[in-house]
Amino acid sequence: MERKRLAGVRGVENYRTRQEEYKMAYVISDECTMCGTCVETCPSEAIKEGDPKYVIDPELCVDCASCVDACPVDAISEE
Ligand code: SF4
Ligand code: SF4
Repeated sequence: MERKRLAGVRGVENYRTRQEEYKMAYVISDECTMCGTCVETCPSEAIKEGDPKYVIDPELCVDCASCVDACPVDAISEE
């Protein structure tokens, strides 16, 4: 009984992980020079200043790819 319950919980966790991976479509690499250009192109305010680079919030990102073309050093790509 306990094993079945745990298996169910793990299944839900795996499902959530896959959903989070799916939503995290774009990431910023270490090549980021923190110029801030991508922030201005993002329609959903998903890009924030981090340390040592800018980061994309997967919860806010709508996968529009505007930031990919805007980055002068090609630091943004699909995960
Ligand atoms: S893909 Fe679009 S929504 Fe996502 S971070 Fe880039 S500009 Fe923002
Ligand atoms: S445009 Fe590129 S280099 Fe500039 S802050 Fe965004 S990810 Fe970093």
